[in-house]
Amino acid sequence: MATKRTQIAYRCPDCATATVGFLGGLSSVSDMLRLKCECGESALDIKRQNDGKINLSVPCVYCKSNHSYVLSPEIMMRDELTKFSCPYSGMGIAFIGDDESISKEIENSAEELSRIMASLEAETVSDIQPQDVGEDSMPPDPAIYDTLNFVLRDLEAEGEVHCPCDNGSYDLRFTDDGMQAYCKNCGATYDFYARSVSVAEEYLTIDSITLK
Ligand SMILES: [Zn+2]
Ligand SMILES: [Zn+2]
Ligand SMILES: [Zn+2]
Repeated sequence: MATKRTQIAYRCPDCATATVGFLGGLSSVSDMLRLKCECGESALDIKRQNDGKINLSVPCVYCKSNHSYVLSPEIMMRDELTKFSCPYSGMGIAFIGDDESISKEIENSAEELSRIMASLEAETVSDIQPQDVGEDSMPPDPAIYDTLNFVLRDLEAEGEVHCPCDNGSYDLRFTDDGMQAYCKNCGATYDFYARSVSVAEEYLTIDSITLK
């Protein structure tokens, strides 16, 4: 595998500081990397799975819980920045890219965070995080997101995500029917009708998706 100066960054849910680490050391099956915040209260875990895919567990500054993402190893050889979003807030919580794009994205996400905090009149990040999640407001199963995010990233890597603008970067959001992939460039969408993990898993076999 070609080695690039690929970095990974996330923001700590406890102290709101961004931590950046080098992703290049991940080579063998048993490898696991842990990127810790200096405050000691949070850590991002990166594991290589038996099938060669990379598993990320990212502390979310917006939910205070971890979200996990499964990536294909090619991600480390991509030129453009990859952004991982919180499935509930849609905000970017982790980034993979080179030095330059990572520092730019950390700045952007800091601005995003302070805008949100200002709009909620929050003094610390804990003020914007959920305090007590009641039974009624239980968020959808994160495993649905994990599965469909995997489907989307896999198809994207194979060039099988089609979109009117043909130069999109794609993300996912929850809808009443399941999840929706959308193009951040032109706004086209594709609906995944999946309200459960088992239905979401049926999408693992599709060959391509076309956003409209
Ligand atoms: Zn911290
Ligand atoms: Zn989150
Ligand atoms: Zn598009």
